[in-house]
Amino acid sequence: MSLVDSYVNPYTSLTVAKFGGTSVADFTAMSRSAAIILHAPQTRLVLISACSGVTNILVELANGVTDTQQRHALLTRLTDIHQSVLSQLKQPQQADEAITLLLKNVAELAKKAAIEKSVALTDQLVSHGELLSTHLFAQILRELGIKAIRFDIRDVMRTDGQFGKAIPQPSIIRQLSEQHLLPQLKKHVVVSQGFIGSDEQGNTTTLGRGGSDYSAALMAEAIGASTLEIWTDVPGMYTTDPRIATKAKPIKEISFSEASEMANFGAKILHPSTLVPAIRQQIPVFIGSSKAPEQGGTWIRETVSDAPLFRALALRCNQTMVTLTSLNMFHAYGFLAEVFRILAEHKISVDLITTSEVSVSLTLDQTDTSGGAPTLPAQALAELSELCRVEVEQDLCLVALIGNQMSSTKGSAKTVFSTLEYYNLRMICYGASPHNLCFLVKAQDAKSAIKDLHCAIFE
Ligand code: ADP
Ligand code: ASP
Ligand code: MG
Repeated sequence: MSLVDSYVNPYTSLTVAKFGGTSVADFTAMSRSAAIILHAPQTRLVLISACSGVTNILVELANGVTDTQQRHALLTRLTDIHQSVLSQLKQPQQADEAITLLLKNVAELAKKAAIEKSVALTDQLVSHGELLSTHLFAQILRELGIKAIRFDIRDVMRTDGQFGKAIPQPSIIRQLSEQHLLPQLKKHVVVSQGFIGSDEQGNTTTLGRGGSDYSAALMAEAIGASTLEIWTDVPGMYTTDPRIATKAKPIKEISFSEASEMANFGAKILHPSTLVPAIRQQIPVFIGSSKAPEQGGTWIRETVSDAPLFRALALRCNQTMVTLTSLNMFHAYGFLAEVFRILAEHKISVDLITTSEVSVSLTLDQTDTSGGAPTLPAQALAELSELCRVEVEQDLCLVALIGNQMSSTKGSAKTVFSTLEYYNLRMICYGASPHNLCFLVKAQDAKSAIKDLHCAIFE
């Protein structure tokens, strides 16, 4: 029996719960989330995000705000968000002291970033959102009578040193969790940070925007949890983003494969990597609304009772498409190998690919915290330009239809193409996966394409 098993056995159904930014936005939201934990004694580890809006302010500061007045205005907004919660605590002293210190750090780091920004400094700065919110949430739990402690996840969440989108190291995370976290879980409800980690040298890293979902799944894996709960602002996963299609319907149950496609193809409700640890350990994932837990939510599991042809639609914006054209590609070999050698040398990760006789189009993966469209580094562009004609296009969004056995079911593409006959569809990818059909559209057409498809397929 491993250490994990011996610690975890007393809690046969240990749960990790994650609360996103809107679920810890202010005192009221935090209190609602705390009530969920109060009624779930099996929840021992709670990972939370920064209070809503805080990471955006920190990213802005990390990008270097040189105007002192503007910088101070942003710092004041950060202080106000946290002060408003502090002012409603019964015993704010401990959290107040810690928060004052952290906000002082933020001011110093923001000043540094205004002089010279760097990816390491950005991670150090943006990590403060989660470092701050966890002080407040732990205190709110204690004031409800829960034996809660705040834990610094950087003691266990080991990643590589790729700032902005660090890669977690699950076996080290598990070892460190056995040493430092499991003994605490036996005695307390542990409140800790999503999104952030630490490399071997102790530098603070982050897992990419929206990364708290992924943190929670990694921790569920590390401590051998039997359930992962993701508490957010909607009661589960819907047939598409309900902000885009108001008639979107909640999904009660969805398979790991379908939900992974949804996350990968941009459904913001889950960070794209969230389900990787859950699938590795077969941990069922529940998504629910912290505002309305009584409404239930979505269960994501290995096997589910139905496998509809069309399950849902996802949208991912800020796409960069690169088209490489060369007559040398015609009936030749080695051209694509050379293209991918250059891309690999510059550590450029490719997402979608389509080819013709003389050209290949590809989209670039998002690789940092900025959230904007990825760019082709100048050196890579120069090397590719020596080989072929290179065109880079932005202002594109990726629409994905997720379902089951789509590539082997006659007529499934017809519904899509007949509904969208007046749209300019680019880079159509169909058939490689039985679970999806996707294509690019101009950014300004994306939401109406989703609405039209949703209406034709799900309403
Ligand atoms: P959190 O801060 O809790 O992590 P996010 O904003 O990251 O929350 O994710 C929740 C949001 O995801 C919802 O408010 C919704 O607009 C969006 N979303 C995108 N696709 C879907 C979908 N298929 N189902 C439900 N919500 C979705
Ligand atoms: N606070 C981080 C963000 O806003 C991580 C998260 O919320 O998941 O991206
Ligand atoms: Mg999120």
